[in-house]
Amino acid sequence: MLDQSGSHLTTETIQMNSFVKTDTDSHFPIQNVPFGVCQGRGGPAFCCTRIGDFVLELRALEDLGIFKQLNLETGRLFEEPSLNRFMELPQLQRALLRQSIQAALRENSPHKAALEQMLTPWSEVEPRLPAAIGDYTDFYASRWHASNVGKMFRPDGDPLLPNWLHLPVGYHGRSSSIVPSGVPVRRPKGQILPPDANSPIDAASRLLDYEFEMGAFFGGESNNIGSRIPISSAHEHIVGYVIVNDWSARDIQKWEYQPLGPFNAKNFQTSISSWIVTPEALDEFRVPQPQRSPQDPPLLEYLTPPNDQGLNIKVETWLQSQKMDEPQRISAGNFSDMWWSFEQMLAHHTSTGCPFRAGDLLASGTVSGPDKESRGCLLELTWRGSEPLQLADGSTRKFLEDGDIVTMTAFCQGNGYRIGFGELSAKVVA
Ligand code: MN
Repeated sequence: MLDQSGSHLTTETIQMNSFVKTDTDSHFPIQNVPFGVCQGRGGPAFCCTRIGDFVLELRALEDLGIFKQLNLETGRLFEEPSLNRFMELPQLQRALLRQSIQAALRENSPHKAALEQMLTPWSEVEPRLPAAIGDYTDFYASRWHASNVGKMFRPDGDPLLPNWLHLPVGYHGRSSSIVPSGVPVRRPKGQILPPDANSPIDAASRLLDYEFEMGAFFGGESNNIGSRIPISSAHEHIVGYVIVNDWSARDIQKWEYQPLGPFNAKNFQTSISSWIVTPEALDEFRVPQPQRSPQDPPLLEYLTPPNDQGLNIKVETWLQSQKMDEPQRISAGNFSDMWWSFEQMLAHHTSTGCPFRAGDLLASGTVSGPDKESRGCLLELTWRGSEPLQLADGSTRKFLEDGDIVTMTAFCQGNGYRIGFGELSAKVVA
């Protein structure tokens, strides 16, 4: 039943149906099979997958013997409420394990009766972090975003600094403040130099922003300290992708960022979406990257990918103020507009011999595209506040206000179905 290459992209898979019925706009048809961790009210947290509007506990699937044929010899994988042990598996085993879940969910599955008893409505659980995240690094991989920010902050020079086209620029973030969807974001206080002031104050940020990013979880075997992960095998270490909201306090950032980059402006909270969507589920949505193939100037060999494909993921940000009855879409872009890939980020990050461990998280940096509508943060959308956004309640926004709810979503549009990430949502509180 399993395709031993681990690749699932066959006509059969695309046309596959589950005994759990899903609408054509559901993000979680049987073609997706993402991984996450949830918690029922008052109950323990557990590893799960999602099908339609239901979650399914992975430990229960393990008990049914669904993974037995994989001969994992690793003992129980889903005992703890984190996916780290699963993430440690080599890519082929992760792919085969996902395929065996997919097979168990098919219309004619011999496990149908047992699994139907185990389906828990998504509305009855809350998302938790999918893994114990050891280290978190945030990049700056959109040429559109980096160019826009460069134009705003250095209007007289080249918008891109001299290193930008040669390496994916990044900084080390804080894993301790990464939270799941639904956790409110508290407006941070920090050191700010008010306009026209000579000395800084300690005050609540007035320029709170979001950044729409995608994240990638690292998996497979760690590289030892001192050794590199070559670009040719970097893809084997990507367990899957999530949406990341890199909340940013622009006034704190402006005062502190030179010369070492962001610090307190971004360490107060980072939100991630609930479901890790695998590279196998997204196979069908790989697209050529004509705008950067080959990258110019030519890349050093360790950053030159064997093939250069992007992911055709539609990304959207929605905003709802306290006075609005429903959210309003404020931006729409595409992840294929990124300049640097996660494979390049990982090859670069380990080029000095920096070790990675299963559960580490990379984030792409703000996902922006060529059009105004595709800009992935308020800093760019409102051009530093000079072009305020008009909201449906009659108010305008330069930056976020208390009570605003920011909701991000992302999905790939297939022929008659979607593979998506669900929603990442949080409310701004004082
Ligand atoms: Mn960022």
